[in-house]
Amino acid sequence: MAGLATDNSPVAVLGAGPAGLTAAYQLAARGRSVVVFEATEAIGGLAQTAVRDGYRFDLGGHRFFTKSSEVAALWDEVLGPEMLVRPRLSRIFWRGRFVEYPLRAADVIAKVGPLELARCLASYARARARRDRPDVSFEDWVTARFGRRLFQLFFKTYTEKVWGVATDELRAEWAAQRIAGLSLRSAARAALPSRGGDVPKSLIEEFRYPRLGPGQMWEAMAHRIASAGGEIRLGAPVNRLTIEHERVVAVGAGGEETPVSAAISSVPLRALAGIADPAAPRPVREAASGLRYRDFLTVALVVEGPSPFPDNWIYIHDAAVSVGRIQNYRAWSPWMTPDPRRSCVGLEYFCFEGDELWSRPDEDLVTLAREEIARLGLVPAERVAGGHVVRVPKAYPIYDAEYATRVETIREWLGGIANLQQVGRNGLHRYNNSDHSMLTAMRAVENLCDGADHDIWAVNADSAYHERGEADEQPYLAVPETPAMARGLVDDAPA
Ligand SMILES: Cc1cc2nc3c(=O)[nH]c(=O)nc-3n(C[C@H](O)[C@H](O)[C@H](O)COP(=O)(O)OP(=O)(O)OC[C@H]3O[C@@H](n4cnc5c(N)ncnc54)[C@H](O)[C@@H]3O)c2cc1C
Repeated sequence: MAGLATDNSPVAVLGAGPAGLTAAYQLAARGRSVVVFEATEAIGGLAQTAVRDGYRFDLGGHRFFTKSSEVAALWDEVLGPEMLVRPRLSRIFWRGRFVEYPLRAADVIAKVGPLELARCLASYARARARRDRPDVSFEDWVTARFGRRLFQLFFKTYTEKVWGVATDELRAEWAAQRIAGLSLRSAARAALPSRGGDVPKSLIEEFRYPRLGPGQMWEAMAHRIASAGGEIRLGAPVNRLTIEHERVVAVGAGGEETPVSAAISSVPLRALAGIADPAAPRPVREAASGLRYRDFLTVALVVEGPSPFPDNWIYIHDAAVSVGRIQNYRAWSPWMTPDPRRSCVGLEYFCFEGDELWSRPDEDLVTLAREEIARLGLVPAERVAGGHVVRVPKAYPIYDAEYATRVETIREWLGGIANLQQVGRNGLHRYNNSDHSMLTAMRAVENLCDGADHDIWAVNADSAYHERGEADEQPYLAVPETPAMARGLVDDAPA
């Protein structure tokens, strides 16, 4: 059982991303003393909203969707009617054409033509006939469900851009978790006008979104934490966790030691082992040092005139350009763009921290983005009024061949520190969305404050409401309507 936080020292929360802020919010609401340590000057972590010259943009668009009624209730509690319901439109830009994503049979037929279609169907039939083979890699997983031809046309290029490795080296778990429930059959079923049952994550057609972007959620949470007496220290990277008698007793940040009664940490698992004092055993440090991440950067271009396309985002499957995905922030919420005569698009480049792309000067990256969006025929170069670059380290935990064993080694060591709860996305080295990251924080608070015995590593956002006996509840689509502007309008000016 997790050690209860009993004395009067504050509970330390490491990281002010969705997980850390959720933990702090719930601790403060219970009247607990809490201090949040955030390494950077910003709150929201990967889910923050950057603001440049009044233009607001996500570091990768953040849809809010969840099957957890607790998480949905928390969003409503914090933002109420400021949470919009937005339509989703996302397409694949392929050979100069827009193909709907999720793939729809009629659309794919129209776009790929009869010959290619025959190839796709034959390859799908071959894949179905060989279903007894185990799915080891991402390539196996997708090929088994869609056929090799569709895999090559619509999954391979994009996935290799995202991960920077060949699809036969990527583990099948990533596909299973990320495009869970999706198959050619489920895609076809979803294309029919009426359907029942659960909709796979990848096919969700509406999502919730704060009017001013995800940052609005974290800013509102931070405000409430402070109002309830909690403290958030920005620019405070934790570099020491002092452990005595198998308990965290103090947190070191910025040369200052703060005595604590317990700690909830969303610090990347790789870093955590290195800040323990006394040091974690050597096998644990070695396991941690081998965990890997994919990083990325966003180039937000300010564009004269209306949105160049109606989609929230488009996937770029063209191997001739490096950009992987393009966001259209006005389509997420019209309030993201301050000037109704302009739009703002975000070109996402996947890379590794320190590599050639990552290290280029900002102005070169803006030039690259301007050239690529013009080459794709989406925005003429002369319409680009300027741009901003944001680099995002550790955007994606990598599931390579060794990660599971490494995580298990670190997890065993953590199990021996009674009052330390590890939560979140990089905190658990899991490809968690923000709802899932928040849910792990909620369970961690219950462990520390109520003596509950949740296994944080087993928390699954998809099954949360089933586990809690609320199987009849609707997933996120049941959320009541919010302002009229939220639905259907893409290019309207901010009110
Ligand atoms: C491109 C992209 C798109 C995404 N899209 C979606 C989406 O559509 N919907 C969705 O729900 N989720 C999405 N996600 C996932 C979502 O961003 C994460 O689930 C969520 O941000 C994880 O929250 P977290 O608090 O665990 O971690 P983070 O957001 O990573 O926050 C961790 C915080 O800890 C801080 N920190 C690190 N080390 C230290 C230290 N030593 N001391 C103090 N602080 C430290 C970091 O600075 C950071 O602020 C997306 C992620 C990416 C990268």
